[in-house]
Amino acid sequence: MKVCGYAANEPKSVLTQLSFDRREPHDHDVVIDIHYCGICHSDIHQVNSEWGGNGIYPMVPGHEITGIVSEVGTKVANYKKGDRVAVGCMVNSCRKCSPCKNGLEQYCIGGGPVLTYNDEEFINGRKTPTHGGYSNKIVVDENYVVSVPESLQLDRAAPLLCAGITLYSPLKHWKAGPGKRVAILGLGGLGHIGVKIAHALGAEVTVLSHSLKKQEDGKRLGADNFCVTSDPTTFESFKGYFDLIINTVSANIDLNNYLSMLALDGAMVVVGIPEKDASLSAPVLVTSRRSIAGSGIGGIRETQEMLDFCSTNNITCDIELIPIESVNDAYERVINSDVRYRFVIDIANSLKCEDN
Ligand code: NAP
Ligand code: ZN
Ligand code: ZN
Repeated sequence: MKVCGYAANEPKSVLTQLSFDRREPHDHDVVIDIHYCGICHSDIHQVNSEWGGNGIYPMVPGHEITGIVSEVGTKVANYKKGDRVAVGCMVNSCRKCSPCKNGLEQYCIGGGPVLTYNDEEFINGRKTPTHGGYSNKIVVDENYVVSVPESLQLDRAAPLLCAGITLYSPLKHWKAGPGKRVAILGLGGLGHIGVKIAHALGAEVTVLSHSLKKQEDGKRLGADNFCVTSDPTTFESFKGYFDLIINTVSANIDLNNYLSMLALDGAMVVVGIPEKDASLSAPVLVTSRRSIAGSGIGGIRETQEMLDFCSTNNITCDIELIPIESVNDAYERVINSDVRYRFVIDIANSLKCEDN
């Protein structure tokens, strides 16, 4: 089917409108009219080919997608026309390996997962590029679609599909909860939803931010403390304090300063993916049996669990809704940490496609 979206034609190029084809729905596919799509910092890293390797161009980014089902394949069991649904960072995986069988499709070791954009999938035996949510429609196998609870607005829920699950998954895995001191490092799209979720889980929450600009917001979002990392005394005051630091920073920073803020057996979980690798100090890790780990989004089952958790706890994202023509300006502002706290593109009301 003919669809349209906004695409980057080469690394670092601005995004412009593009018409392209998506497959007609197969038996297990759901066709979604996209209403909203969040702008994740990963979109910018990938458009700019900052993660090494070659990006696939033209690239239609977007993996924080919410919308309404417009059509279903003949064997679709769980969705029908009119349902409120969402798609995150993956649209397929091998379904056979141990991570896939355990609901950890994001860690598929059978050649997947297939990412929502900047990846390839086999369609009718042909390798075809995947294209994301800065577009009017998407066709996805129902096993990689989740349901948006009625109480969540589709625009404010969209960023939960990447930012939300990326924080929910490690907060649950490392058991954030009552009696745990959790720091959220970087108060951006991921960080702000991390504060809300960690607070709802009952943890003591501290924001570690590189400026004072967002201090007022920290408390409103549910943080107990707000600390500025440009002030060296922060590292002294909180030395050995945190059980868990979730590092969402998109830029290269000296991790060792932050690791020294961990208590005995504390862990830093890296979710931010800056362009360059970091160096680690062995003594900082060894002296308090500290650990450093990483975490990537979350599985499909856990993504549904996260949406239900957010519905129960009245958690949605703080967003700035923009028309798609503003996407290039929005990218600049994300790079400058100037968004409170996620841009969401109003696809349904601003993207005009000629063919439909
Ligand atoms: P974002 O909205 O731009 O937030 C990043 C935050 O990092 C900023 O708000 C800022 O927080 C801090 N920061 C930025 N530049 C900094 C600098 N030079 N020094 C210190 N702090 C700085 O980005 P996002 O969408 O939340 O994504 C964050 C990172 O996570 C990106 O690298 C993205 O690719 C990655 N990501 C990973 C996963 C995963 O599965 N692991 C999923 C989604 C995204 P303050 O102003 O508070 O300091
Ligand atoms: Zn993302
Ligand atoms: Zn697999």
